[in-house]
Amino acid sequence: MASIIRLHMPPKLATGAVIGTNAAQAHYLGAVMRRRAGDGLRVFNGTDGEYDAVIERIGRQGADVLLREQTRPPAPEPDCWLAFAPVKRDATDLIVEKATELGVSAIHPVFTERSQTGRVNRDRLGAIATEAAEQSERLHVPPVAEPIDLARFLAGFPPGRRLFVAAERQAAPPLVPMADLQPQALLIGPEGGFAPAELDGMARHGFVTLVSLGPRVLRAETAAIAGLARLLAAPDQS
Ligand code: SAH
Repeated sequence: MASIIRLHMPPKLATGAVIGTNAAQAHYLGAVMRRRAGDGLRVFNGTDGEYDAVIERIGRQGADVLLREQTRPPAPEPDCWLAFAPVKRDATDLIVEKATELGVSAIHPVFTERSQTGRVNRDRLGAIATEAAEQSERLHVPPVAEPIDLARFLAGFPPGRRLFVAAERQAAPPLVPMADLQPQALLIGPEGGFAPAELDGMARHGFVTLVSLGPRVLRAETAAIAGLARLLAAPDQS
């Protein structure tokens, strides 16, 4: 059986509604996946949940889909951000895709002293996150925040959220998930690592915990995936 296509759509989804897709989604449905009028799919978003749907009309500019019954109600997901120093393009893409699959609630590109790149294409990363949410059966697409300098990220860090800073070659305790459902965030440094002054400065904040991801020095993308796997592996976090 062909796999079920899931499309992320803005609110407001409801049984009986006819929703128009954008041109890119119509192209994906028709030209890439060879679907036509009468074929089924699922549509979803974090606010309305997921609906069974059927294509009523499909053209170049868009498709109309009729929503049938709700297949999943909206449900909360764990509140865990990933903050990371953008690396090379392919590695950054990988981080965003895998972080979304693993279940992060938001993605924050953060520029540090040794960041290799000063540019981030938010639209591109947003599209990668949307695709990963569609594929991994999530209801929420994590927003990709405006890139920001480390100092400003820390200054604006919301109260009540714990920040785990991944620090290699330090006598830091291993990263262990918190027992309660406190909002949290994981920060991963660039390929060159954090500068010593950055680590010292971060360690002074009460909301920061420096953590180790094991004895080896991981690439930034490996560190992001390994750390998030630990924080988000529990089945009953939401
Ligand atoms: N160039 C640095 C390594 C940087 S690795 C060096 O040789 O020391 C890139 C980022 O991945 C680091 O900033 C850190 O956030 C994370 N990282 C890699 N390995 C890690 C480990 N074993 N424990 C915790 N964080 C790690």
